[in-house]
Amino acid sequence: MSTDVFCKIVKGELKSEAVYKDDDFWVIKDINPQAPVHLLIIPVRHFLKIEDFAGDGILLGKALLLADKMAHEHGLDRGYRLIINEGDHGGKLVPHFHIHLLGGKRLGPKLVKE
Ligand SMILES: [Zn+2]
Repeated sequence: MSTDVFCKIVKGELKSEAVYKDDDFWVIKDINPQAPVHLLIIPVRHFLKIEDFAGDGILLGKALLLADKMAHEHGLDRGYRLIINEGDHGGKLVPHFHIHLLGGKRLGPKLVKE
């Protein structure tokens, strides 16, 4: 049983600003937005990392398709950026797989901050 913040959110134990929910995913607003639109695509089931989807690649594909749908629903027709932080060096803060969807302005080429 995992007790990370995203598991708590999808169980209703913590409040969040959800913009979308279905049986497989929640989409919430990032509490520390890095762009005018900054959403997090979170699977309801606990997955720590990409390799945990090995038996369920379709679900991982659905996450990408949902991110694209959310982008268009939030007016990001000129483009957007998806980021998955994996592990320590990847800068993952919450130990529950999630995809960052960023957009709403022209994003620069730099992904890495010191
Ligand atoms: Zn979790």
